[in-house]
Amino acid sequence: MRFSGWRVIREGLTGNRGWGPHWRDPEPKPAYDALIIGGGGHGLATAYYLAKKHGLTNIAVLEKGHIGSGNIGRNTTIVRANYFLPGNSAFYSHSLKLWEGLEAELNYNVMHSQRGIINLFHSDGQRDAAVRRGNAMINQGDDAVLLDRAQLRAMLPYLDYDNARFPIYGGLYHARGGTARHDAVAWGYARGADRLGVDLLQNCEITGITIKDGAVKGVETTRGPIRAPKVGMVVAGRSSQVAALAGIRLPIESHVLQAFVTEGLKPCIDHVITFGMGHFYISQSDKGGLVFGGDLDFYASYASRGNLPAAEHVMEAGMALMPMIGRAKLLRSWGGIMDMSPDGSPIIDRTAVEGLFLNCGWCYGGFKAVPASGDCFAHLMATGEPKAEAAAFRLDRFRDGVGILDEEGSGSQHNLH
Ligand SMILES: Cc1cc2nc3c(=O)[nH]c(=O)nc-3n(C[C@H](O)[C@H](O)[C@H](O)COP(=O)(O)OP(=O)(O)OC[C@H]3O[C@@H](n4cnc5c(N)ncnc54)[C@H](O)[C@@H]3O)c2cc1C
Repeated sequence: MRFSGWRVIREGLTGNRGWGPHWRDPEPKPAYDALIIGGGGHGLATAYYLAKKHGLTNIAVLEKGHIGSGNIGRNTTIVRANYFLPGNSAFYSHSLKLWEGLEAELNYNVMHSQRGIINLFHSDGQRDAAVRRGNAMINQGDDAVLLDRAQLRAMLPYLDYDNARFPIYGGLYHARGGTARHDAVAWGYARGADRLGVDLLQNCEITGITIKDGAVKGVETTRGPIRAPKVGMVVAGRSSQVAALAGIRLPIESHVLQAFVTEGLKPCIDHVITFGMGHFYISQSDKGGLVFGGDLDFYASYASRGNLPAAEHVMEAGMALMPMIGRAKLLRSWGGIMDMSPDGSPIIDRTAVEGLFLNCGWCYGGFKAVPASGDCFAHLMATGEPKAEAAAFRLDRFRDGVGILDEEGSGSQHNLH
């Protein structure tokens, strides 16, 4: 079932009776060539690229709930390539390029909208840091423009410039950044993987990982045991729990991050705006809701719902930046479980168990990473060697301290990243 303008018109004229399910609902086979644990964005993208680029089609994605029920369907949809450190910047640059061709690649409308991201700064020191970051982005081949206060005011007239708690000095504008519809990304990759022969096994929780003579042999699941010589763990906020099934202790803490959406409003916010001083960021969805969030809830948890102190903090920051938001009615809020790594950067690596691979540590920034993470993890699982763009995301950097990728300079405290 391919999508096209003609197909939409034809189906519209014939009662939409020709559409089929996006993917099959197969029974688990007793054995596969490779298994991916976790049907989030990263797991589905990995399966897609394993099949598409490496010809591994006798593979399955094992998801304990339904496709899209994790963070891939809970995030605030920001896509950007504005990282500073070598190691991160090449990877996110690669990801943004994949985003730019994703809809054609998947034949699926993921509503990728390059509406631009503006990071505000509020002091001379922050301006210097923004200039440095912008230069790093340009050197990487991406885009960055420094906006002064007058230019910013012309673009974002609704911010509080005259009476603000943190006076606005300007912003770093990343025009190719923007948003995409989060669950459409999961559905697009799921459909693409299914079309290449990948089995998507929903309601299939991993309860054990079978290891013999130092090599992985398969997994135990709620739908029975499945054998495979290669297994990839891609379970985001559940990474420590699933790795523990293989006897591996990860340097990952799970923390809650909340997000909020208002009732639908007429278009008023054209960009994504981040207000680091107040821990607040905002964009407007295509349905009109103002989508915004802030910082973590600041304690480790496996509950995918948040608490009121963090909600109050986010609302206060929103009011401090753009008092007009006080007129909007909040419609919903929700939370997701973040796999926080000590340096705020991810892990894409082998483990000490032969055939067992690890992809985690995405913190609150893993949505934009989905295409590159899938591409690089598939490369690692297929060839046994890291792809150049992800070579810095080693697990052992937390043991030897070499190559720590601390973008924020926050040190090794998980909840500060
Ligand atoms: C509120 C919020 C806002 C965010 N905003 C952004 C943003 O604007 N931009 C950005 O880049 N990132 C953002 N993120 C982060 C991003 O959503 C995550 O980093 C990313 O989605 C994590 O990867 P994933 O999609 O594979 O995770 P998930 O979708 O969580 O996938 C993991 C899957 O593993 C499954 N699983 C767990 N245990 C098992 C098991 N034992 N057996 C089988 N399956 C299992 C889970 O059910 C889940 O479906 C945000 C996150 C949240 C919560």
